[in-house]
Amino acid sequence: MVISGPSGTGKTSICEALLKRLPGAVWSVSATTRPMRPGDVNGQTYEFISQEEFEHRRETGDFLETAEYCGHLYGTPRRPVEEAVRQGKFVILEIEVKGGAQVAQKMPESVRIFVLPPNRESLRARLEGRRTEAQAQLRRRLAEADGEIAFARDSGAYNHFVVNDILEETIEEVEQIILKEHAHA
Ligand code: ADP
Ligand code: 5GP
Repeated sequence: MVISGPSGTGKTSICEALLKRLPGAVWSVSATTRPMRPGDVNGQTYEFISQEEFEHRRETGDFLETAEYCGHLYGTPRRPVEEAVRQGKFVILEIEVKGGAQVAQKMPESVRIFVLPPNRESLRARLEGRRTEAQAQLRRRLAEADGEIAFARDSGAYNHFVVNDILEETIEEVEQIILKEHAHA
């Protein structure tokens, strides 16, 4: 499953709940060049690596997809995803839209969900409330939101759009989407 949406829309909160609720669900640990922020655990939330290492790994085909977001590089290591899929596990990729479109092409069997905030004000409030970004970075992330939403709609890469108003209801909705897709697979 690919889950995308503007920063602060609630992706991580939804994924944390799904990991607890769905048997066999595993988190794909991305690699990134962004600095660690409060709550990050190296090797768990991300692999934090240098730009040189990222570029080397990208050249050697180590990534399923990569993208630049707000000045930093992000990528999904390919082998852990392929291995987990082979073992019949359910892999969750929380990635931005350009990466989501790459996965849509390479793994058309994936379920791709885009999470929308109820409105712009709540997106800002959630991002501010999380208190993880400095003002400049926060503004930059909010400025990205419209373009991400437009790309998600226009690219056709996402087969489901959900509005994260009440978190518990959104978790339920996403779980139902997954179970339904699984039943049809
Ligand atoms: P993302 O992973 O999309 O950047 P997070 O999951 O970190 O977003 O959520 C951003 C902030 O908003 C967090 O503080 C989280 O607790 C809060 N949040 C998530 N979903 C909701 C919701 N439905 N209503 C209110 N706050 C929410
Ligand atoms: P953050 O810095 O807030 O953890 O993530 C910023 C953005 O990068 C989010 O939209 C997140 O989903 C996305 N992201 C995280 N890991 C990856 C990845 O491996 N590939 C891509 N394309 N995007 C990622």
